[in-house]
Amino acid sequence: MRALGIDIGGTMIKTAIVDENGVISEKKLYPTQRKLREQLLQIVKEELAVSNPEAIGIGTAGRVDPLTGEVNLATDNLTGWTGVPLKSFIQGETGVATAVLNDANAAALGEWFSNHRRTETLVMLTVGTGLGGGVVINGVPLLGKRGEAAEFGHVVLHPGGRRCNCGKAGCAEQYVSMRLIHRLVTEVTGRELDRATLVEQYMSGDPIVEKAVDTVAGDLAIVIDSIFLSFDPETVVIGGGICELGDRFLLSLREKLVAPSQLSLYSPEDVVLSLSRNDSGIIGAAIFAMKSASRKQLRPTRRGRKRDYPAPE
Ligand SMILES: [Zn+2]
Repeated sequence: MRALGIDIGGTMIKTAIVDENGVISEKKLYPTQRKLREQLLQIVKEELAVSNPEAIGIGTAGRVDPLTGEVNLATDNLTGWTGVPLKSFIQGETGVATAVLNDANAAALGEWFSNHRRTETLVMLTVGTGLGGGVVINGVPLLGKRGEAAEFGHVVLHPGGRRCNCGKAGCAEQYVSMRLIHRLVTEVTGRELDRATLVEQYMSGDPIVEKAVDTVAGDLAIVIDSIFLSFDPETVVIGGGICELGDRFLLSLREKLVAPSQLSLYSPEDVVLSLSRNDSGIIGAAIFAMKSASRKQLRPTRRGRKRDYPAPE
């Protein structure tokens, strides 16, 4: 079985064909347009004409209704996206079984499927333009009742703090993001660095960049400590653009976790960087779609949680 995996973010849409082992091919990248609905349908139709996948899996920013696949709530990063009945729209237009979930939930599932299939509870945090989260328990993504499970980015970290685009103040996303690292550097130097330069300067030990990363790592550690005490996961995976800062970043993050972890039972080494990086969202969305499609065909009324994935090698 093969599925078209789609990862919709505020700046880019990523697509690929994914097989049931999570192997991806025909990867493509499109800048997100304002008329997203029309753009998405066009992309999907072009892909279907070429690749003929049996299912479509979409991971999108925003809170996605687990039953209907409708986008219940999206911030201004995706204009006019709130209320779009994404699943029924794409399925109705194409006739291909479609499944939709939040992009960070998809990334967590993709990461689990590709690299951590022996892990019972995995939590992933995607640190990019913003902060996303996903929880996978026994291979099943935790979607919640309303599609807002694992929205760690909008949990208030500093009450009365910076205004968030969700309308609240002090959300974790305003303190843990690549965007903030860039901003902290610009505040000191007056210069705007592109991503590659920032990474390069961090690797070479530039003190200004290092301080900015250190500030964000400190707040990220607070979020991670809460996650260990909420879910007691075996592993917390850090994904998103921040992974480009590599092991140097991971070590400094783990250092921040030494003190809080000594008061708990987890270890800083239980935090790792994503191995699938930018592909985890596409893989997770596609795997989710294949699983949903095969479940419908084989067990129309079953809602149990039996493992549907092949056993790890
Ligand atoms: Zn918020």
